[in-house]
This record gives sequence, C-alpha cells and structure tokens, in this order.
Amino acid sequence: MTGPIVPASAERTAELADALARVRARLAAAVRDAGRDAAEVALLPVTKFFPAADVMALIELGCTEFGESREQEAAAKVAGIAGAVPNTSAGTAIRWHMIGRIQRNKARAVTRWAAAAHSVDSAALVAALGRGAVQALEHGQRRQPLDVYIQLSLDGDPARGGVSVDRPGEVDRLCAAADATPGVRFAGLMAIPPVDSDPAAQFARLRGEYLRVQTQYPQRLGLSAGMSADLETAVKYGSTCVRVGTALMGPRPLTSP
Ligand SMILES: *Cc1c(COP(=O)(O)O)cnc(C)c1O
Repeated sequence: MTGPIVPASAERTAELADALARVRARLAAAVRDAGRDAAEVALLPVTKFFPAADVMALIELGCTEFGESREQEAAAKVAGIAGAVPNTSAGTAIRWHMIGRIQRNKARAVTRWAAAAHSVDSAALVAALGRGAVQALEHGQRRQPLDVYIQLSLDGDPARGGVSVDRPGEVDRLCAAADATPGVRFAGLMAIPPVDSDPAAQFARLRGEYLRVQTQYPQRLGLSAGMSADLETAVKYGSTCVRVGTALMGPRPLTSP
C-alpha cells in the first residue's frame, strides 16, 4: 500500500473540520466545568478504519497525534503519512498511539511506529515491547523510549483486556515492570469502561487507582480515559487524554475488513 495519498474531498475535509471544532468545544467545556487547566487534557483523534487521507486532513487542521488499534493497518497508514507529511503546512512530527490490544508477536512491529502504547496489560507484553523498543533505538528506527500505559479492567471482562482494578498488587507489579524496563517509559494508566455501565462510578474507581499509583512515582502520570460518548465524565474524573473516534470521524464500519 504505497503511492501518494489521494487527498480527502472538499466535502469530507469540511465535515472533519466541523466535527473537530465540535469535539474541541466539548472538551473545552468539560475542562472548564471540571475546573481544570486545558493544557492538562489532550485530545487523541482515533483514526482506525479511516483512510490516510482523513489523517492528512486532520494534520492540516492542526492535529499531531493519532490513535490506531490494529498493527498492520496502522503501520501502512504511518508509512503513507510519513512520505506525505513534508508536503503539509504543519511540518510537525506526528506521534502515533497504539490503543488496541497488542498480540505479543506484534510487539516488535508496534515499536517501529508507535510513540505510545495504551493497552499494555501483562508483564510479558511489557518485556516484549521493551526488547523491540531497545532494538529500534539501537537501529535508529526510533529516538525516544515507548510510552507505556498500563490498561486496567474495571469489570474484569477479559474481552476488553486490562488488569483488574480489584487486584492492586497485580497493578503495582505491572506498573513497576513498565517503570524498570529499558526501552519503555511508564507513562500512566488507561481504561475502557464497560458498555451499559454508569460511567461516573467507573471513572471514579479508575481515578482512585490512578491517584494511588501516582503516589509511588515521581514522574507525572497520565490517565488515558474517555471516548466519544463519555469524555465529559472522564475529564471530570481526571483524564489527561481522551481517545475520540466516532464523534470526529463518523461511524465506523461494523465489521473488520
Ligand atoms: C475505537 C476506540 C476508541 C474510540 O471510540 P469512540 O467511541 O469511537 O470515540 C477509544 N479507545 C479505544 C481503545 C478504541 O479502541
């Protein structure tokens, strides 16, 4: 999948500009209502299932970080954008975040394009990402360690991944592993609340765990929480990064291609 990216249509570009303005306004209002500082909460556009042309349009609109959830799709998109970005007016480095589940045999590949991984929930995965990142650093394929967020599960459902908040000892062990592993940097915690749950109650639990873990580390930790439907609640409970797909890009196809 190489070759030049065909730019998004004028109609699609206008649609993305409108959606981005609406999401930015929602986020600004949420930050204000929570009595927080706008600089504390980043908007991470989630571009999975959407073409590189949409990413290019968002770069032109000032976005510099993007979330992707599937390794192969992301790697192809990143390569396409890397070839095209010198032609944009932004001229800034783009940071890609892996937010989907990472199979261990894909860990090395992820360290070739991701600045951060939000979905890390086992010591074996931390180790595999560390090995991949060290090698990528040595080979000049990346310049910075990989930022690792430990994913917590708020309801113990294995389908979404994450280590259960009900097992703080296990949470501490994983965070310590991320903090001690060469090639990665322990950046914070992440969670996806169960559907059909009360987001406030879920995010309140997450916040409690975040504050507990933060007391153990000198670096300021991040909290990756909140999506299209619940970003206001997540911001109220301390999110530092909202991962927004649908509200920005429109509905995704229902099945994977
Ligand atoms: C797809 C995805 C999102 C975006 O969800 P929306 O509801 O479309 O905003 C956020 N986080 C993760 C982990 C995702 O996989």
